[in-house]
Amino acid sequence: MVVGGGIIGLTSAFRLAVAGHHVTVFDPSPAKGATWAAAGMIAPSGEIAPGEEANYELEKQALHAWREVSGLLEELTGESLVFGETGTLLVGWDASDRRQMAQFVEIAESFAAPMSTVTRNDSPEVFQGVSSRIASGVLMAGDAWMDPDQAVRLLLAGLNSLGAEIVNEQVVEVGSRDGEAIVATEAREYRGELGLIATGASGLPRGATSERHSVRPIRGATVRVQGLDRSAQPSIRAFVRGRAFYMVSRPGGYCILGASADERADAVLEVGELQRLLRDGLDVIPELETAKVLETRIGLRPASPTLEPFFERLSLSGWAWSSGHYRHGVTLAPLAARSALEFVENDS
Ligand SMILES: Cc1cc2nc3c(=O)[nH]c(=O)nc-3n(C[C@H](O)[C@H](O)[C@H](O)COP(=O)(O)OP(=O)(O)OC[C@H]3O[C@@H](n4cnc5c(N)ncnc54)[C@H](O)[C@@H]3O)c2cc1C
Repeated sequence: MVVGGGIIGLTSAFRLAVAGHHVTVFDPSPAKGATWAAAGMIAPSGEIAPGEEANYELEKQALHAWREVSGLLEELTGESLVFGETGTLLVGWDASDRRQMAQFVEIAESFAAPMSTVTRNDSPEVFQGVSSRIASGVLMAGDAWMDPDQAVRLLLAGLNSLGAEIVNEQVVEVGSRDGEAIVATEAREYRGELGLIATGASGLPRGATSERHSVRPIRGATVRVQGLDRSAQPSIRAFVRGRAFYMVSRPGGYCILGASADERADAVLEVGELQRLLRDGLDVIPELETAKVLETRIGLRPASPTLEPFFERLSLSGWAWSSGHYRHGVTLAPLAARSALEFVENDS
């Protein structure tokens, strides 16, 4: 039984179902949590942050792990996941942002991330749509993107074809009785051999506790626009007036602009926050001027105190907790799924 049908729960459930286990996923609204807001970057280099070496090492394995999942999905659904392996272009808006960028590059160098300087003169195509005031940047190879909406659609289709059940109910309590894992919703009680909690920033449901881990929500918003196809070029990451901005472009001109990061748990997008995101985007990529705004999405990233993900066998017999994926949950989902499979195959 998997409680939570975000990218972590669904990818784990899928791996378990492929391995022949009977799986039930509980979620009142699957993939409408942080997964809904995610841009879909698989960007080990672009996501480098001081002290996050462990995350970097994990993320370097992610694209290969996703390709494996994609192969399994293709066998079941006839459709494979789309990956864009275009790298990341890192730029700074003003002199102070370029200093911030230089600091980032120093940290990335200490991680031995693959990087090279790129100039507008030598590679004008890389600067497609980018403000003419930005003459150079740093190209980070190996970074990629995927489409979380497509991944969720295919994972649900794959689960369906493997006979897995999706129960659209909120879990109010989990437990353990007579060697079985118990899930209680408002409507009824379910029993299974083992249980996995993958509830993202919501943390543990009643009945389960952990002395080793905790998560807190870090809220973020992305804006979806249509009108600039930069999908053949690297995703853009920019420092703008001290803030971080990114744009991922998919074929056909669908672009995701992101992202704010605040220690709050509400799902309200404020005017000022939206204005800053769009202003930063327009400054760095003036060609967005005529792009059509499609929608905004907000999600709560599940962050652990160390900012590292965890997979914990809980003291509640038969239960494990997979969370803390913070800014990297889409990237790391197939690795979390491996831990889920290991848990079930070793404990069942
Ligand atoms: C703005 C933004 C941009 C991001 N961009 C990227 C990116 O480019 N690349 C990347 O790798 N990551 C990105 N992330 C991070 C990524 O989205 C998260 O790390 C990931 O979605 C976490 O997945 P999850 O399944 O743990 O949580 P969620 O996606 O939040 O899913 C948890 C699910 O559990 C369900 N749930 C909760 N409580 C219960 C309960 N009691 N009973 C039943 N169901 C329950 C919820 O309904 C939800 O569907 C981004 C996040 C945000 C917010």
